[in-house]
Amino acid sequence: MVRTNQTNEALTKDEQYIWHSMKPYNPDTTMVVTKAEGVWITDNEGNKYLDAMSGLWCVNVGYGRKELADAAYEQLKELAYFPLTQSHLPAIKLGEKLNKMLGDEYVIFFSNSGSEANEAAFKIVRQYHQQKGEGHRYKFISRYRAYHGNSMGALAATGQAERKYKYEPLAPGFIHVTPPDVYRSTDQLDCDPSELESVKEIDRVMTWELSDTIAGVIMEPIITGGGVLIPPDGYLSAVKEVCEKHGALLIVDEVICGFGRTGEAFGFMNYGVKPDIITMAKGITSGYLPLSATAVRKEIYNAFKGSEQYDYFRHVNTFGGSPAACALALKNLELMEEENLYERSKELGERLKNDLRNHLQNHSFVGDVRGKGLLIGIELVSDKETKTPVDVSIVNQVIASCKQKGVIIGKNGATVAGYNNVLTLAPPLTIEEEELTFLVQTLKEALNEVNGHQ
Ligand code: PMP
Repeated sequence: MVRTNQTNEALTKDEQYIWHSMKPYNPDTTMVVTKAEGVWITDNEGNKYLDAMSGLWCVNVGYGRKELADAAYEQLKELAYFPLTQSHLPAIKLGEKLNKMLGDEYVIFFSNSGSEANEAAFKIVRQYHQQKGEGHRYKFISRYRAYHGNSMGALAATGQAERKYKYEPLAPGFIHVTPPDVYRSTDQLDCDPSELESVKEIDRVMTWELSDTIAGVIMEPIITGGGVLIPPDGYLSAVKEVCEKHGALLIVDEVICGFGRTGEAFGFMNYGVKPDIITMAKGITSGYLPLSATAVRKEIYNAFKGSEQYDYFRHVNTFGGSPAACALALKNLELMEEENLYERSKELGERLKNDLRNHLQNHSFVGDVRGKGLLIGIELVSDKETKTPVDVSIVNQVIASCKQKGVIIGKNGATVAGYNNVLTLAPPLTIEEEELTFLVQTLKEALNEVNGHQ
């Protein structure tokens, strides 16, 4: 790649001052992005890319929405900051709006990031059991391959060893179980959901650990970063039943799945369950400002109302639910409804999945194309019979080739197990049909190129 002086200068300073998330600094591939509009991002050399990952799965309403900038600006002029130890109107309005979306039975604790929303959830669940005189319930069950955040509790819940082992010991009390993997499963999957091996495993772990030590379960409705694992339809409600049987609470992590990504307002709505706690971030503001939320069922909240001051949830977040972020989130949710983006995600997601299947399924590397709404995973294998994952260098080549052709896609999976072989697509829900066509065409060309045939 040829770099201009302008880029070289920016990158020299970048190397000097910026510690990047996840990726090492790379003078050949690091992009300095300067502006974005719709689904397109532009770097400081004027190159345009279709961002088929919405940043980090965030920008659900697309880039450059003036309405959102205006909502934040107006709020900043009116009231720039006030903590939620007291209250302010944007938080109240957003709390009311989220409740309407969730079915009117939740109270909302605001933070700034998905990790913090999950940390708040863990603390609420542990304290809830204490309030009820069941203080020995402290263990959480989560799943291998899932990601729940970067802090010591959220990382402990995370089931991706490669992200964790250098930072251990993490928060104690987290146990991992196997998620259903429909593509690779050798188990029977068309059985009664309670008979799914992955559900029985949770029941068994809770029994063997002793039910009255189990505080809760955390899971995404669909594992996203671990490789887009769509569960069998009845899985989540069967997990909820197991939780109820053992007195554990179900936390659903909607940080990626929420706000239309899977074709419903929230991912759990695809599966007819009512979670005890719902955590959300990213799409709540479409990534325009940091904001996250932990929605907690009223009965749980009510257990914190006592006569003693220590009955209260002793947890504060200085910036959580800041007025401008809440005002912007409200506008963002309004836009999603006005533009029918949940429905659009469902329809376009089906189209994208079908197009990908039609165009790519015969490609020798493409083992599986799966998705719900505009959340898509393409699993690459070197042998379709054995389902052996391709070497990650192949995945990297496909991604690099797409980028060269003007499309940014993602790579997900489980590095340690060698399953870092899932290409991911999560474009803004506003993506146009012709942009989808360009995306599919580009992926097809990139795969052909990497496979050595044009
Ligand atoms: N949960 C899930 C499912 C996520 O994907 C992420 C972030 N990718 C988080 C939690 C953590 O969110 P944040 O990076 O905002 O802390």
